[in-house]
Amino acid sequence: MPAYSGSTGDPKVVALFPEKRESVTQPLDRQAECRSARLLVVGDDELNVEIVKSCLEDLGYKDVIAGARSSSAMVQLAEMDPSLVVFDDSGDGSNALEMLSALSARPHSRSVALIILASRTDLDSRLKALDLGATDFLAKPVDSTELDLRLRRALLAKADTDRLAFSDRITGLSNRDRYFEQLDWALKHAKRVGGSGAVLHIGLDRFGRINDALGSTAGDRVLREVGRRLADCIRETDFVLLPSEPGPTHLVSRLSGDEFSVLLIGLSRPDSAELVAKRVQAAIAEPIRIAERDLAMTCSVGMSVFPNDGSTRDLIFKAAGAALRDAKRNGKGTRRFYSSELNGRALHRLSLEAELRRGLENDELRLFFQPKVDLASGRVCGAEALVRWVHPTRGMVSPAEFIPIAEDSGLIMPLGDWVIGAACEQIRTWQEAGIPVPRIAVNVSIHQFRSQCVNQSVRKALQRSGIDASLLGLEFTESALMENAADNLQLLVELKEIGTQLALDDFGTGYSSLSYLKRFPLDELKIDRSFLSEVETDPNSASIVAAIIALAQRLGLKVVAEGVETEQQLEFLRQHRCDEYQGFLFSQPVPAHELPRLLIG
Ligand code: C2E
Ligand code: MG
Ligand code: MG
Repeated sequence: MPAYSGSTGDPKVVALFPEKRESVTQPLDRQAECRSARLLVVGDDELNVEIVKSCLEDLGYKDVIAGARSSSAMVQLAEMDPSLVVFDDSGDGSNALEMLSALSARPHSRSVALIILASRTDLDSRLKALDLGATDFLAKPVDSTELDLRLRRALLAKADTDRLAFSDRITGLSNRDRYFEQLDWALKHAKRVGGSGAVLHIGLDRFGRINDALGSTAGDRVLREVGRRLADCIRETDFVLLPSEPGPTHLVSRLSGDEFSVLLIGLSRPDSAELVAKRVQAAIAEPIRIAERDLAMTCSVGMSVFPNDGSTRDLIFKAAGAALRDAKRNGKGTRRFYSSELNGRALHRLSLEAELRRGLENDELRLFFQPKVDLASGRVCGAEALVRWVHPTRGMVSPAEFIPIAEDSGLIMPLGDWVIGAACEQIRTWQEAGIPVPRIAVNVSIHQFRSQCVNQSVRKALQRSGIDASLLGLEFTESALMENAADNLQLLVELKEIGTQLALDDFGTGYSSLSYLKRFPLDELKIDRSFLSEVETDPNSASIVAAIIALAQRLGLKVVAEGVETEQQLEFLRQHRCDEYQGFLFSQPVPAHELPRLLIG
């Protein structure tokens, strides 16, 4: 390995190493941990900075940042949060000492390791540097192998110190101190990008009894197991969109005795916190095997949501604590939001979920049909089946209200099966009555799609009804298709082989990859109605609709405009040669017995 001595007689080099935050519940690969640490190289001589940077990269360090001049190193230090600084000092180390003094004055930088590379070294300056907190002091020229060894030693020592300082002894999760750092970061991030997040305080119900009955060793094992389950739950959650910028990865902490906390960042909507809480409770409720017996545990959860419940760490933390106390007052296994509005919504969802379960059993669901009209001929060329819930006391409940509940609770599987089956049965009934039935499309939820069982339910429904597969259409939203696009491609190919027609619903509201759009075996694109409603007033929406029509035609797809309410919108579509439309202008969704009349007219 070559030795580094700087390009001139006066090199100043500083390198900073940030710690990559590993998951404490995973076994650690300590060497890999060192290699992925963030290193910041700063100095007054840019060329030297670059030389050190490339030397470190050659040694296998993956995250090396070349810093600017040493005068701005303090700013960079705060921004980049490195794990270690290497300061290349051209002279006797006095420049490095100056920086060290500044560093030691900043509480934030206490845990940054610093290695000094200096051309001239005397015992006095070495001792002074070590007194001021330098981790190591190397005389140039420095052999790169030696540099590597010193770096690793410093990084490993720092990682151990951090682990002791920031992780919980029993569970290995982050402790209260680290938790607060992360909460600060999350609040700042939410403020910057305008997102929302939540804090879930989780209290184990009657944990004291386990400690009393089985001893503290068994108690510690329970806490470890709970920590592991919580970490798994959060890893698997799909309600949280982790930000792309680097941020905390320790989202689960143990705050004290039997209290844990989970930090959720980038929630798709504030009340998604409740869904995570529900999963957490289900995960904790799985029996825990300790000392040859299965322990049944429950936990209560208090939730606060930011920025709604407050914008400072203290407010959010206290709100979650208050919500947990409220939950505990209401009995074991309870969940509570801090905000009464969210509590009201959660209660409403809970009762609707129970009623929907009953409604499915009691045959309270109905299909309505909305015709699709061919623009050129003006004739009905298909219809979309839209589910309705005829509630015994609430009356007709809109799918916009109960489909999300069905999706969150898993009821969407039986419900989706029912819809596909009922649509096929209805087609057969019409055929038997001699009505020339057009193709009927049903909506398939992302959850049905994810579970990969949709082709099975399509096959079963077709078989049972005996209708031709070409009479059945399936509508998927963009988000359903684009999530795991590669896997979905296979699923779509199978559905296509069965003979069903495939449509991309609400196009323009999600994020389609154009390359997949070309590869998916789709037949139809449906332009989301939000664009149509603004086509007359907003030139952007008009351009989008025109562009989607052109795109669909280029891809050989039929294009259907949804939500057409006015003659002007229809005229716009006609001018742009849209194929079909659907909307209140022609007809609202109607019950099955009313569709034949529209087919003829
Ligand atoms: P979607 O699939 O985009 O269905 C079109 C929605 O737009 C329907 O609302 C329809 O009544 C409404 N609509 C049609 N024309 C117009 C119009 O001119 N103006 C306005 N303002 N609205 C119009 P609906 O029936 O309330 O359904 C809402 C959503 O619920 C559907 O959107 C679909 O995503 C979902 N949904 C409905 N039935 C099912 C189902 O059986 N399974 C699944 N998974 N989702 C369903
Ligand atoms: Mg649809
Ligand atoms: Mg739609």
